Amino acid sequence: MSRDHNQFSTKLIHFGKEVCEHTGASSVPIYQASTFHHEDIFNPPAHDYSRSGNPTREALEGYIALLEGGTRGFAFASGMAAISSTLLLLSAGDHVIVTEDVYGGTYRLLTSILNRMQIETTFVDMTDLNQVEAAYRPNTKAIYMETPSNPTLKITDIAAVTAWAKSKGLLTLLDNTFMTPYHQRPIEHGVDIVLHSATKFLGGHSDVLAGLAVTNDEELGKRVKMLQNGLGTVLGVQDSWLLMRGMKTLEARMRHSEVSAGKLAQWLSERDDIAQVFYPGLANHPGREIHERQSLGYGAVVSFDVGSGERAKQVLNAVQIPLVAVSLGAVESILSYPAMMSHAAMPPHVRAERGITDGVLRFSVGLEHIDDLLADLEQALSLSR
Ligand SMILES: *Cc1c(COP(=O)(O)O)cnc(C)c1O
Repeated sequence: MSRDHNQFSTKLIHFGKEVCEHTGASSVPIYQASTFHHEDIFNPPAHDYSRSGNPTREALEGYIALLEGGTRGFAFASGMAAISSTLLLLSAGDHVIVTEDVYGGTYRLLTSILNRMQIETTFVDMTDLNQVEAAYRPNTKAIYMETPSNPTLKITDIAAVTAWAKSKGLLTLLDNTFMTPYHQRPIEHGVDIVLHSATKFLGGHSDVLAGLAVTNDEELGKRVKMLQNGLGTVLGVQDSWLLMRGMKTLEARMRHSEVSAGKLAQWLSERDDIAQVFYPGLANHPGREIHERQSLGYGAVVSFDVGSGERAKQVLNAVQIPLVAVSLGAVESILSYPAMMSHAAMPPHVRAERGITDGVLRFSVGLEHIDDLLADLEQALSLSR
């Protein structure tokens, strides 16, 4: 693994709109306006209505496009707004191949909303390219990836899937929430549209709900722009500003949390009372080699199986430091319980098949001192051994 640290860090701080061009103010102004005056009706202003374009939101959109290495960025009201808006590039009768352990909200969108619009989905284990190829149909139009997946951190070979997709003329989308562009830039591996729940690591402070999309070419950018404006799923200006504020420290936060996550994963894997640990940085992770080819780090989410649902609940009640909650990617550690939270809607036998047993907990490592986090987990685990 290698990276030009200075380059990404510098882009995070100096993304082009970090200084107000009119006043020199040290942050992007919040243009709290819905509409823009036409001083000269023959010569309309650059912006006319904030759903179609707002300078604050555009600063954020340019920022994420720069970080992902795409041509155009889009900011949405939530991660699901970004995902649902871009999936509406598909039309009735189209078919999409989707990774089976896709985010729960995306699963719901595909199986209870888009299915009613005759958009068909096949879920496959994307760690196996044969399954992807076998799912192909004459009406297949797109492939939807998520890597590492949630919560078992399975790895999809991005370049292999996109190369095959290109040979079939398919659109490729990838949810990059867990890695962020600090660690993984899917457009460099051939992906057409990168998606984010910016609510997580990009925002980083559990205080803003937002989604982002980045396209790899102008033509696709125009089509997504039409959907964003036509559906009206835009991010408001206050939240756009708050998100940019959070993103500036992305690297500093990710680096700290990742070092701690590595220690936590190692510590858990050395215990005899933990059935399994899921973290792409562990030597025995089945997708580690592929992950290292396409990512610059392992991220800050560690999942582990404490053996039973009973014990998982005891641990959740006993921990003192992490927030016990859904969500991830924040300054504070967040411990969540997939079986009752993010994956509650999934039938128990499907969950079991995918390794999301009742004993699995997901730890999103924050910025607390790792020694405190380990001591806290030690006391919680020892109460319920
Ligand atoms: C949270 C999340 C989403 C949904 O984003 P919201 O901002 O909650 O709408 C999508 N994908 C992944 C991987 C997520 O973790």
